[in-house]
Parts: sequence; C-alpha cells; structure tokens
Amino acid sequence: GSGKAVFEDQIEFIKESMLKISKAKSELETLHEDRRTLPIYAHRDSLLKAIEEHQVLVIVGETGSGKTTQIPQYLHEAGYTKRGKVACTQPRRVAAMSVAARVSQEMDVKLGHEVGYSIRFEDYTSEKTVLKYMTDGKLLRELLGEPDLASYSVIMVDEAHERTVSTDVLFGLLKDIARFRKDIKILISSATPDASKFSDFFDCAPIYRIPGRRYPVEIQYTKAPVADYLDAAIVTVLQIHVTQPPGDILVFLTGQEEIESAEEILKHKISGFGLEIPELVICKIFSNLPTELQAKIFQPIPIGSRKVVLATNIAEASLTIDGINYVIDPGFCKIESYNPRTGMESLQVTSISKASANQRAGRSGRTGPGKCFRLYTADSYKTKFDDNTPPEIQRTNLTSVVLSLKILGIQNLLNFDFMDPPSNEALVTKVGRQMAGFPLDPMLSKMIVASDKYKCSDEVISIAAMLSVGNSIFYSPNGEQVHADHARMSFHTGNVGDHIALMNVYNSWRETNYSTQWCYENYVQVRSMRRARDIRDQLERLLERVEIELTGCPNDLQAIKKAITSGFFSHSARLQNYGSYRTVKHPRIVHIHPSSGLADNFPRWVVYHEVVLTTKEYMRNVTELKPEWLVEIAPHYYQMKDIKDA
Ligand code: ADP
Ligand code: MG
Repeated sequence: GSGKAVFEDQIEFIKESMLKISKAKSELETLHEDRRTLPIYAHRDSLLKAIEEHQVLVIVGETGSGKTTQIPQYLHEAGYTKRGKVACTQPRRVAAMSVAARVSQEMDVKLGHEVGYSIRFEDYTSEKTVLKYMTDGKLLRELLGEPDLASYSVIMVDEAHERTVSTDVLFGLLKDIARFRKDIKILISSATPDASKFSDFFDCAPIYRIPGRRYPVEIQYTKAPVADYLDAAIVTVLQIHVTQPPGDILVFLTGQEEIESAEEILKHKISGFGLEIPELVICKIFSNLPTELQAKIFQPIPIGSRKVVLATNIAEASLTIDGINYVIDPGFCKIESYNPRTGMESLQVTSISKASANQRAGRSGRTGPGKCFRLYTADSYKTKFDDNTPPEIQRTNLTSVVLSLKILGIQNLLNFDFMDPPSNEALVTKVGRQMAGFPLDPMLSKMIVASDKYKCSDEVISIAAMLSVGNSIFYSPNGEQVHADHARMSFHTGNVGDHIALMNVYNSWRETNYSTQWCYENYVQVRSMRRARDIRDQLERLLERVEIELTGCPNDLQAIKKAITSGFFSHSARLQNYGSYRTVKHPRIVHIHPSSGLADNFPRWVVYHEVVLTTKEYMRNVTELKPEWLVEIAPHYYQMKDIKDA
C-alpha cells in the first residue's frame, strides 16, 4: 500500500525534475541560437583573425550587431583569457551591469564569477573573473594602481563614439601602453560609421566593419514646432498605439523626472481606454533606475500587447532593446557643461546633434522596417542641429582627470596626447597627491583631507558620502508633502545648513542601527541611505590608506564647516538685495535652491556644493560661513578686499 505510493511519489518527483532540467536547457539553447543569429556571428573567425594580426583594431558595427556581448566571449573562446582578463569598458554604469548580466546568462555562469562588472563603489567580480565589464572611469582608476594593465590581455574600449572624458583619456594612455606592451590587444569599438578619427589617432589602425542589418526607416517631421515636447511625445505614443500595426515604441526623454511624469500621464490616459484597445506595457530606463527594474525592458510581454520604453540617451547606442519598430524623438538630451573660468557646472537640456538623431531613428529599423517620429521640423533639423555633439572633454570639469593623470606621473598635461585637446584653461595645476586617493570629486577629496586638520573626519566622510549619493535622499509622496517637509526640516534644527543636516540624517539612521522603518517614518529613501553607507565604508578604508585618522567632533559644528569650506572655498557667495546671491570670485547671480533648509533664512555668506541651472541658477546644498574663513583657509585664492563689505 503506502510503500508503493511513496515510490510513485519519487518517480513523479524525478520526472518533474527532469522536465525542469530539459526546460532550463532549452532556454540556454535559445540563448545560443540568438547568439548565432546576430550580424556579428558570420564574422567571428575573420574578426578573430584581424585581432590576432593587429595590435590595435577599430571595430565599427551598428547598435545591436553584437559587439558588446559577443566580442569578449569570442576572445574567451579563442583563448585570450588564458593570458589575462578581457576588459570591456562602457560609458554608462547601467550598460556595464546589464550587459554583464546578459553575458553571464549566455555563458551559463553566475554573475560575478567568470563574467563580472565593476563600477564606482560596486565591484561584482572575483578571482575567477575573466570577462570584466566596467565603466571607462573605473578602468582609469585601475590604471592608477596598475599602470601597465598587466593583468589584462585585451582592452576593448566600447561605445567609443560617446567620447566621454574617461574614454578620451584612456585613448591617450592605451596608445602609450600598447607601445611597450606588445602582447596587449586594444580594440576600439564604435557604433558610428565615421571611425577614421580613431584610426588616425592610433597610428592608422585598421578598421573592421561589421555590416549591419538595417531596414528602411521612414522619418516624419512635425509641420510646425511643438510647444511642449513631452505632451507631444505622449500624444504620439497613443496615436501609434491606436492606429499603427504591432511593434514596440521607444521614446527618448531627457531624464528621470521627465520619464516618470510621462509614465504617470500615460498610465492615466490608457486607464480610460476600452477593452477593444490592446494592452500597453510601459517600461522605463535611466541610469539611476534600481537594478531589479532595469531588466524589465528586456522581458517579453503578453501576446497582442505593445511595449513602450521611456528612455534617456542610454538607449541611443549603449543598450539594444529588441522589437522596436517605432521611435519618438523630441530632439533633446541633457548634457553637462562646465565653464572653467567661473567654475560653474550645469546640466542643461539642449538640442541633440544630427548624428544622434540618426542613431535614434536607426533604433526602429533593426528587426523590420521602422518609423521615426521627430517632434521637430525638417527645417530645425537642417539648420539648428550640429553635425556632432562636441566631445565631453571640451565642456566639462577636468580636475579629477587631471589629478589622476598627475598621479600616473604625467606632469605636463599640455603635451598629453589627447584626440581633441581640452582648453589649457581647463587644465588646473594646484592639486595634492593625497587627494587623488579618493574616488571622488577633487573638492570632496580636499574637504576630507582637510577634516584631518579640524579633527572631524568621522563627520566629514558621512557628509561626503551623502553628497555623493546625489539629491535623492528625501522623498515627498503626493498628498503627504506637509509631513515630508516637516520630517525633512527636523534635521535642520538650528539652521545648521544642508551639509550638517545631511550628517544629522546619517547619524540618526546609524543610531537606529540602519533601520528601514526609520527611513519610512522620516521620508528618507532607504536605497539612497544604503548607498551612502556603502560609500562611507569605502571612504573609511581609504582614510586608512592615506593615513588620516578617524576622529569625530559631533558638537563642534564650526570645525566641520571649516573642513567643508576647505574643499569648496571657490564655491562661496554673498547675499545681495532681494534674496539673491553673488558668487565672490567671477561674480554671478545665484539663488538658494528651494529644497535647502536655508531657503528662507538668507545667511550673509554661504558656501555651496553645486550650482544647478533650472529656471534660475540655484545653489544646492548650502552652508553658512564666516567670510574671514575664506582668507584664512584659501589665502592663495582670496584677499581681504574680496570679503570687505561692499
Ligand atoms: P552592440 O554592442 O553591437 O550594440 P549588443 O551586444 O549589445 O550589440 O547586443 C546584442 C544582442 O543582445 C541584442 O539583440 C540585444 O537585445 C541583446 N541584449 C543585450 N543585453 C541584453 C540584456 N541585458 N538582456 C537581454 N538581451 C540583451
Ligand atoms: Mg554595444
């Protein structure tokens, strides 16, 4: 009786397990089949031959041809990883993470084992790792510790067309390394056809072209300029959904806030649709999106429904999303620009270039004929768009790059081999070696180094960690703004300023032993806090490395403020009439950001973390200071006349 039943149960269990195994196997087989259908697959052997024959190779292939996911695997299969790791650099953190995850699936290994990724403050690699996806900035950091990159056999600088500062600096350094390390291979891969610049820079390196599969893309312009591109984009999504044949939609927006409001409006609008309209699945992707949500853009959707992906520039070339037939391009992106004369950095929404517009349009024609809806006129495209976006190196704050190069022993930066040299003005000189030990902005590093003198390193690294997380500490849900504001302001008691308030938040959380509940109760984002804690832990270890003692003086706010001023002395401003401020050096009118605890307080002198440009130029994260500190702390920068009463 019962003995037989148990036996049958076991058989059933074995059957089920076998079914599971064969199912898992078929998923893997599908992945392998997918690999073989990519355009690059037909070129596998000739590409490997070209790599064998040349030390530096420029590889050009349309987005989605398989460069990022396949080339490192081919190199592994061909035995390159026996001699050292293969690095593949990405300009964006999300791309490094997502691609590494994909490749680990294709190779059927655990992420972080043979295939890993490494980005600032997050290292997902191990002793076993042979394929390492990383941000370009991270490879630059590694170069500080290993100037000849001895542990690597191949460096693939991917998405080279993006021309980030780190990529540009890597070019110069890799060119040099290639000269004395004959065994290292350098691959420069790009999605834009114009690769002659890369080839020229690397002493006429050959260009390998992977012919893409590209279907025709029909481009439509608006007849007249649109007043509100977000609104126009939403209307276009709905029009496509209701009138056009199946196929997913990709919308290019400029940032998280815009994407989230578009999502909300779309959700609201489709909730009013009848059952005869198919389902519209909304996905989003931007750099700060939590990892677990990132994968959603790649997941299959129910049959008969349509997907709309709301994305930043990241979907232009860094990430390939399959099944897109419609692209909506409002023609804008957010770029960082920096004015070396005033020290002002700002994120600005600007028109994209013609090259970007064409990349975007191309995203719709990968799996079949596509349509691209440009929310601007044909005339704007012709007359207002530049051909290419100027490389970042010519419009950004170079201090940290300069620091890194100095540490590498490159003293004369004016002679450094840049593909497009930055202006001499942007190349600063007065910097400390100790500062470059921190993976942080030089001003933050300086603040930390100074905290040693003021005996408050414990407090200052908490502040630095909180500032590094960005402005995503507090949140304020709809309908609860009053409570959220109240909770936020409680950290500001005594008008201590935003830096100390951030410290108060961190310390309060630490006192609860990092409680999640505490975060909910105080309208603080737990995810951001965990990141701050992570960063802080690393900073603590770094302190040790540069021999700064961890000391605290929680009640001596003046000491903490002086340490902050030591880092950010050039970011000082004094009160003017009508609540506006004037920066002390290179005068400019700025305001205290409404989110600041000092927004209604108007201290006479302040030091600020950064200036952001929205409707006005706002100082974000502001602390009151005494003007005489400026002369005391930075006598090379300020004289008495700068701080005298006007
Ligand atoms: P390229 O670098 O030439 O633009 P990729 O190697 O990134 O091409 O992409 C090759 C294929 O892999 C594409 O079809 C893409 O959709 C797929 N792919 C890449 N990353 C992921 C991911 N995280 N999840 C699912 N598919 C992915
Ligand atoms: Mg790629």
